[in-house]
Amino acid sequence: MSSPEGSHGWIRLIEPACTSCMICARECPTWCISLDSHAEPVGDLPSGARERTRNVLDRFAIDWSLCMYCGICIEECPYDALEWVGELTQPGFTSEALVEEMVRPPS
Ligand code: SF4
Ligand code: SF4
Repeated sequence: MSSPEGSHGWIRLIEPACTSCMICARECPTWCISLDSHAEPVGDLPSGARERTRNVLDRFAIDWSLCMYCGICIEECPYDALEWVGELTQPGFTSEALVEEMVRPPS
């Protein structure tokens, strides 16, 4: 999805669908996905039910300076939580600007 002007394709995280399973980060050949999460107890369980936790996403970022736009993360996500966005975006010009924070940790 590269263009002669240097703009690049874009991948969007559909945050509500993401379970923080880490599969995309593990399968990415360039390790450009950063993902942090924490476990929270599931409330409203029936009485006597075993305690359960669910993962809550704290951070999801892609480093566009490393991404090859191979689409493996999109293909491998079992929850369809990543998708191509049908537009090109201009790259940032600093290493910080190339890391796109899609979900940020609370400050
Ligand atoms: S498109 Fe490829 S290189 Fe880019 S984040 Fe996804 S798996 Fe990694
Ligand atoms: S593979 Fe999909 S569900 Fe799992 S962490 Fe990545 S985006 Fe989220």
